[in-house]
Amino acid sequence: MIRQYELVERVRAYDPSVDEDLLNRAYVYAMRMHGSQKRASGDPYFSHPLEVAGILTDMKLDGDTIVTALLHDTIEDTEATLPDIDRVFGENIGRLVDGVTKLTRLELQSDRTKDAENFRKFVLAMSEDIRVLLVKLADRMHNMRTLHFIEDPVKRKRIAAETLDIYAPLAERIGIRDLKDELENLAFTELHADARQSILARLQFLGSAETEMVQTVIDELTVVCSQNGCDCEVNGRRKSPYSIWRKMQRKHASIEQLSDIMAFRVIVPSLDDCYRTLGVIHGHYQVVPGRFKDYISIPKPNGYRSLHTSVIGPLQQRIEVQIRTAEMHEIAERGVAAHWNYKQKGDQSEGEQYKWIRDLLEILDNADGPEEFLEHTKLEMYADQVFCFTPKGKLTALPRGSTPIDFAYATHTEVGNKCVGAKINGRNRPLSVELQNGDQVEIVLSDTSTPSPTWDQICVTGKAKAQIRRFVRQREREEFRDFGAKILEKTFRQEDVALTDKLLAEICEKFQFSTVDDLMAAIGDGTLDPNQVLYVASPSSRPTDGEVKKAAKKRKRKTNAIPITGLTPGVAFHIASCCHPLPGERIVGIAATGKGVTIHTIDCEVLENFHAEPERWRDVAWNRDSEDAQQVSRLNVTITNETGSMATLCSVLGNNNANIMNLKITKRTADFFDLNLDVEVVDVRHLSHIMAALRAMPVITSIDRARS
Ligand code: MN
Repeated sequence: MIRQYELVERVRAYDPSVDEDLLNRAYVYAMRMHGSQKRASGDPYFSHPLEVAGILTDMKLDGDTIVTALLHDTIEDTEATLPDIDRVFGENIGRLVDGVTKLTRLELQSDRTKDAENFRKFVLAMSEDIRVLLVKLADRMHNMRTLHFIEDPVKRKRIAAETLDIYAPLAERIGIRDLKDELENLAFTELHADARQSILARLQFLGSAETEMVQTVIDELTVVCSQNGCDCEVNGRRKSPYSIWRKMQRKHASIEQLSDIMAFRVIVPSLDDCYRTLGVIHGHYQVVPGRFKDYISIPKPNGYRSLHTSVIGPLQQRIEVQIRTAEMHEIAERGVAAHWNYKQKGDQSEGEQYKWIRDLLEILDNADGPEEFLEHTKLEMYADQVFCFTPKGKLTALPRGSTPIDFAYATHTEVGNKCVGAKINGRNRPLSVELQNGDQVEIVLSDTSTPSPTWDQICVTGKAKAQIRRFVRQREREEFRDFGAKILEKTFRQEDVALTDKLLAEICEKFQFSTVDDLMAAIGDGTLDPNQVLYVASPSSRPTDGEVKKAAKKRKRKTNAIPITGLTPGVAFHIASCCHPLPGERIVGIAATGKGVTIHTIDCEVLENFHAEPERWRDVAWNRDSEDAQQVSRLNVTITNETGSMATLCSVLGNNNANIMNLKITKRTADFFDLNLDVEVVDVRHLSHIMAALRAMPVITSIDRARS
């Protein structure tokens, strides 16, 4: 176990300005909090955070990171709380420890191996400070090193698989090669011990010849380069058993068939030297075509820079050669941690050197002050996405701004279609709420429920929008189909023509519809005239020309009547019978599931009943273009009971082009009649005109619009 003064010394060796007091306090605090807890190995638990801190000192990380490593399991595994950490070590350390704790909890809650890519993104999105991720990776590294102490083989395999799926790729993504290699190797040992053994045995068999070969190649490359004035350092390295195994799998090849289980590295002083050395090597050896890669001009996304080429080497064997500067080499090996180190050395050539990491982390804030470079940089990776969990822990990635409706449709179309509500982190929340990173979302379902056309406005994913529209169109078609069937049946019944299945089949064929449903839908939506169907089916019922014209005129009026704007196309609407709104009046729609939208005047008293349900309100207006449309208005009229008074009423209405639809006497006394009068009018101006004309008549005592 590393001793207290040793740890402080290690950090001081590369960072003389480190806060020793803070380090000492963290050491003592963690040791005390973990107390007598034991690891599976039988060691005191405290040895674990201490080793994690040790791994991070190898990466030369700053004092706060080392302190965080010492404290990283205190919140999750001891009595300590976040406020305790804040109080004793300050909020900065508290934030880092809290970040690591959150990642640990996620690890426990998520069924991650099924969704590795999403989980990796999620870990990145959650580790707002890169140091949180570095501590987490070091934590995993130590857990992998001590994995063999865990007795349960299922648990061991699960941890190893997770390491390969999640943590090794993360280490690669932030460019820490050693960490990635060791994680892979440890996991490979656990998961495919046999394969690893046979690769090792094979390598050993090739071993002696290989060692000789490697030295020959190193010597010759060194001589060739220095003769040509390139000052360089050459080393050779066998690839790791895991990367050989992966390559064998990818290429379905045996070890002998793999040409490049050896990689040679030529480390040169400057960037210019990289290309000069490349020229020397290409001039001296035969180049294998198609293998040259310039990762200096175009670095890999994780910032890796190097020249790669393959040549036929000194022993007439294909060898891979990588050429890079010492600095590029350090970045290739240690990634983000190397940058950290440069930062502390106060390296001047920062602008270019750090470009790749800015790209990698998609850092939006411009790092003007170099000292703020990593410390205050949040990982803005995947800022355009949110990651949420199902109750079973499955991770779902959605665009930022997504709502539970998007989540429901992302889960399954049926889940979306039957969704009636959502529980987020166990609480009921509206369907319009914006989801946040890490939310656990449970969709509440109802078998009888269907999507609301208004959901279109509160979802952002294409899938949800498309499915909602599809559903609305489908339902609209069903309504048209049922409506069309009723119309056709009525039309045939009036003419006493029997509408048999055989006749329907004939009609479909004549009108070129592939199904009866298609035929009915066409009648229902007004594209096909039911009378035309009748005449074709039963020529004897064809009416005279006059009748046809009249019918056509009437139909035209009906089909043009789409008087309301602001409704989702295809949604059924009715004019409320309580207030009889008229064109020209301000109106609102109230949606009812399965019943479409009811149109009320803005001042209708019935609206009070819906104040608590703003989601049912629809902003609608009369369509100015539908001048042909007529609406029914109901009037309460009191009229003098005298001869000719009724005739006067009717003639005033007639003179003003208002058609009487219904007339009912509700009260009759010796002197007066009270009437309910339904008239068809064009709009509210038309109605007030009529009312004014009636008021002018001496026989009319009072006249009002009926409000329910
Ligand atoms: Mn730990």
